[in-house]
Amino acid sequence: SPVIGVLALQGDVREHLRALERAGASAVTVRREEELAAVDGLVIPGGESTTMWKLATAFELLEPLRSRIKEGMPAFGSCAGMIMLADRIEGGVEGQQTLGGIDMVVRRNAFGRQIDSFEADLDFAGRGTIRAVFIRAPWVESVGADVEVLGRTEPGDRIVAVRQGPLLATSFHPELTGDARVHSHFVEMMREL
Ligand code: GLN
Repeated sequence: SPVIGVLALQGDVREHLRALERAGASAVTVRREEELAAVDGLVIPGGESTTMWKLATAFELLEPLRSRIKEGMPAFGSCAGMIMLADRIEGGVEGQQTLGGIDMVVRRNAFGRQIDSFEADLDFAGRGTIRAVFIRAPWVESVGADVEVLGRTEPGDRIVAVRQGPLLATSFHPELTGDARVHSHFVEMMREL
């Protein structure tokens, strides 16, 4: 089975490790360049994208992460991880950088203060209805032609799950629900590549 790393600079790392194992993958933490080099794919957890960007810079992981993504390493980002995989962001802090890879504009903290955190059922990638947990979540403002939309909020019709080639991203936190279908989707994506 594939070995999938979870970027462990910040965020809900343990929950992703557990969900990946439930999806039949071997999961390990990644904090250093050698650890990154040893994995077949990577999960970028939810947390805080500004902190993750600063820590990735401090740990000298920003460029290694960018090059592995450019070389086609499969990656799945949830929430802050989705922000990290976006080519362009709105509402970032001054100078905030991402890793990029998915041709989309992602708006940070998009759902606003009124509905800081909420849960909703949505149809994910034709796999049926899943319970999506949103926590100060971003949404996808726009996507390029090569990006496949895998999920939208209802009501609201906001794009909250996307795929481009080996890259998957969700605005919500599938690692928090005990339902491993999104992680299974990622593991299957990796097997098909
Ligand atoms: N608002 C956070 C950010 O901008 C994301 C929140 C989350 O990952 N739960 O990174």
